Amino acid sequence: MTATLRPIFADQLSRGLVSLCDLDRDRDVVLMMEVRGEATHVPHHRKKIAFLFSAMRHFAATLSREGITLRYVRLDDPENSHSFAGEIARAVETLRPQRIIATQPGEWRVLADMRQWKTQAGLPVEILPDDRFLCSAQRFARWAEGRKQLRLEFFYREMRRETGLLMRRDGTPEGGQWNFDQDNRKAPPPGLIPPPPLSVEPDALTREVIELVARSFPEGFGDLDPFPYAVTPQDAQLVFEHFVTERLACFGDYQDAMLRGQDWLYHGVIALYLNCGLLDPLSVCRRAERAWSEGQAPLNAVEGFIRQILGWREYVRGLYWLEMPGYAATNALDAQRPLPEFYWTGRTDMACIAAVVDQTRRLAYAHHIQRLMVTGQFALLAGIAPREIEAWYLAVYADAFDWVELPNTHGMAIFADGGRMASKPYAASGAYIDRMSDYCGTCRYDVKKKLGPRACPFNYLYWDFLMRHRARLEGNPRLSMPYRNLARFEPERREAIHQDATRFLRAMERGERI
Ligand code: SF4
Repeated sequence: MTATLRPIFADQLSRGLVSLCDLDRDRDVVLMMEVRGEATHVPHHRKKIAFLFSAMRHFAATLSREGITLRYVRLDDPENSHSFAGEIARAVETLRPQRIIATQPGEWRVLADMRQWKTQAGLPVEILPDDRFLCSAQRFARWAEGRKQLRLEFFYREMRRETGLLMRRDGTPEGGQWNFDQDNRKAPPPGLIPPPPLSVEPDALTREVIELVARSFPEGFGDLDPFPYAVTPQDAQLVFEHFVTERLACFGDYQDAMLRGQDWLYHGVIALYLNCGLLDPLSVCRRAERAWSEGQAPLNAVEGFIRQILGWREYVRGLYWLEMPGYAATNALDAQRPLPEFYWTGRTDMACIAAVVDQTRRLAYAHHIQRLMVTGQFALLAGIAPREIEAWYLAVYADAFDWVELPNTHGMAIFADGGRMASKPYAASGAYIDRMSDYCGTCRYDVKKKLGPRACPFNYLYWDFLMRHRARLEGNPRLSMPYRNLARFEPERREAIHQDATRFLRAMERGERI
């Protein structure tokens, strides 16, 4: 008889996972499930599905080689019920375990589902905290207690002190400052061609999964080929090491830049591996720190990289578990518009959005500024309903799981939490995109024009956004300058901005090409 059933989800592919630690090889069974319900509850990118299923199958093969008993439910298994609850029920019926032990999932919805397993299966169910993060949910809750606003910077400093990363012996930060963001906003020089990241050739198992996904989701969003991603910890480590030696040195300088034809720039593209468990966050931070101490990369690059993982990644995860489930229901700016079709098709005259959607469709990847300042910012300015834009981000990026996608979108990109996370909405006119990218040069719209049919929509949408939300935002000290500028506009100019924004948004709602 099976003693313990140990379900493992697609983002739990770490050999050191807490629910595998005391596994009894003779009596326990690990359950892994490829279920349609999870692949389609938002219409996940096909490359993301292939990546996760292939990584799962490789992980399962590793466990099998160790002599661990597995029950692996394939997507095309005719008995597959296509839900976690259904597969738990089938496994319990077949294996008759005495208990279930699992690691906390990365999504509130799944956790709520798991809490029903005890009643449904009639067995004790133990859900263990996921200890693959550097800050536990409890530790984050203690830090957040009594704070009105949860600012990354203060959390990050505590994490630096706690881990000792980039810290001097006297308790001060290396380089004499905590963050080098000012050095990390360089506009891309013409002709910048970074070395590409290491691409991993799909093996037979991955090719089999790619064919399965192509057959199972023929109408799904996103290209399956090329498939450059690693699906094992060993290959993910090679990709990361290649990044450290070839690309990290320039990561800081150009981390906000966006260029057509340069999909990766100097980004590590390792979030997908960190978030499913193929890479360990502390190890990658320590390796980056060593690159700095050995002179392979400058401090601004290494500090920026470490902040993304030690600071931002831990912070959004802490905030998610602190604030959910109520967090997702907030809609501070009362944004109600449906997501425009061009987020899926890329058919828009706005060259910046078309480029980011095209890259997303091909790779299931875009870097943080493309997400925040192009697709995210447009959703903010156009008032796209939080649930619609959040479902899109969750679906289209290979690294997106609810704990990381939701705060990034809800709090950071669209300010739906009213400022719990960000000190101001990330709104800007087209000039920001023009400075940081080469998108505007090919656009039908003119980024220099403020009004009229050829004006860049980001320009009038930005001012209309500020006017629309004046009551809520005018008192924000970080917005005092734009509101002072707005106060100097003639009433006719304000009216023209409003007219252009209304015309544009109505055309968008009617599904016209804009
Ligand atoms: Fe985007 Fe405006 Fe530039 Fe066109 S002109 S690419 S819409 S920022």
